[in-house]
Amino acid sequence: MTNLMDKKNVTTNQIRHNIGKNVAMQRFNKKTTQLVIGIGLILLTACNNRQSKTTSQTEIKPTIVQPNIDSVAIAIINGKIIDGTGKQAYNANIYINADSIVYIGNLTNSELKIGQTIDAKGKNVSPGFIDLHAHGNPLSTPDFENFLAMGVTTITLGQDGSSANVRDLKPYLDKVNQQNLGVNIVEFVGHGTLRNLAGIGVKSKITEAELEKLKEILKEQLQYTFGLSSGLEYAPGLYAEESELIALAEIVGNENKMIMSHMRNEDDDAVIESIKELSRQGSNARVHISHLKSVYGKGTARANEILDTIKKIRKSGIQLTADMYPYMASYTGIAIVFPDWSKTPQQFEIAKKTRRKELEEFIRNKVNLRNGPEATLLGSAPYTGKTLAEAAASKNKPFEQFLIDDLGPQGSSGAYFVMNKELQEAFLKDPIIGICSDGSKTGHHPRGHGTFAKTIETYVVKDSILSLEEAVRKMTSYAAEILQLEKRGTLAIGNKADILIFDSKNIKAQADYVNPHQLAKGFEKVLVNGKLVRNNEKLMSELSGEVLFPE
Ligand SMILES: [Zn+2]
Repeated sequence: MTNLMDKKNVTTNQIRHNIGKNVAMQRFNKKTTQLVIGIGLILLTACNNRQSKTTSQTEIKPTIVQPNIDSVAIAIINGKIIDGTGKQAYNANIYINADSIVYIGNLTNSELKIGQTIDAKGKNVSPGFIDLHAHGNPLSTPDFENFLAMGVTTITLGQDGSSANVRDLKPYLDKVNQQNLGVNIVEFVGHGTLRNLAGIGVKSKITEAELEKLKEILKEQLQYTFGLSSGLEYAPGLYAEESELIALAEIVGNENKMIMSHMRNEDDDAVIESIKELSRQGSNARVHISHLKSVYGKGTARANEILDTIKKIRKSGIQLTADMYPYMASYTGIAIVFPDWSKTPQQFEIAKKTRRKELEEFIRNKVNLRNGPEATLLGSAPYTGKTLAEAAASKNKPFEQFLIDDLGPQGSSGAYFVMNKELQEAFLKDPIIGICSDGSKTGHHPRGHGTFAKTIETYVVKDSILSLEEAVRKMTSYAAEILQLEKRGTLAIGNKADILIFDSKNIKAQADYVNPHQLAKGFEKVLVNGKLVRNNEKLMSELSGEVLFPE
């Protein structure tokens, strides 16, 4: 068709003229916009066949043909569109009806009725961000303003092997859907939760009947979710043998879903083996590394070794992807520094009585390897905001004894300063690495309130490591592609209207390790499913997030 058009040598003005005359076009409604564009071009070609010769060659832009839209709920005008694909920003208006984008361009219909006009002059307009790995309880904190304030309109829950502890997921998700939800929710089935639901708990060897039970519950819950999550550094997931994980991956693959994994070990000397373990499940299903990091690994060269491992696996045909968060400290339960044989309360009681010396030594070595007790910031009362070194000193004890006597593996959460800037930044630059917060509204780590703002503030505006278009692509279309989320992640006609309006220079992640619950600044307007839910950085009372179900 393009060739044909070129041959006809038509001018833009003539095309406009022809459209004006074309009464037939008026009958098309807004839902058939794309069809209209296609048919419009055919009609134009036909019309031009009857035209006399014209002069210059002009590139024909399909958006010139407008659908007959006589009213829109919201028009976002004069904005600079960053559409999420990574393509360079361009100026255009966006028109919204109900929960969807009905047109991008400039509607010139003089009769057009507009419910609300938002002037985005001098601002960027982008898709809402999609958080690939988040935490939180939608029944207790449904507004999730921490996410909205940093531009996130969709979060992914049920992570690290832990999802809603219910056998029948559908009524649970329906109940979540009835909340005044700030963001859209994508749910995963937790592998650890499956083990608990099947009555397996922490044992390693499972029977054939137990495996069948796991498969049965998984298959059922996958109907309403986007895949399986595993948390192989946590009980009970860490006790699973590889054969169990491979068998479950087969079910996931059969249902065309994916596995997101907090891998078995993120330490520098184990991370590559962990990636390989995950990739073996990738023969059966799409696989994804959650919060890629190398604990105590350093430097760009090391990052490249890890990235090369991932790329080699991808080249072999395995669909392997990854995400990360832009902070140098991780955050999780203090059990992370306890040995596998002392992670549950029962195991811990036995270990204290029978293997005390060994336990002390393990914890001492592990914490020291993780940059020492000064690099662990406790996040639970009564020690919130104190380093492990300070908390232990307040009890006049070596830190390993404090951890055993005063905390225990369930006693606290902590932020651990175990990551290296050069290494993490090399990950961030790579196009195959997406962005996640791994955060929540209540966790004592700034990532839950800052991640997506920090990505723009630090890595786009301040350090110019990523272009704004590329940062937005990672946080939108790339995430949607990984999740196979339909109609989100790009600004396109027919897609859902999850939209942000902002000036990148004004984006600020306010949260830090001392005050991790400060909302990010700069996302002036946030729309979720076509509704304005944050206006001039104020939360509306009526929110419009939804539980998203696979198509
Ligand atoms: Zn995790």
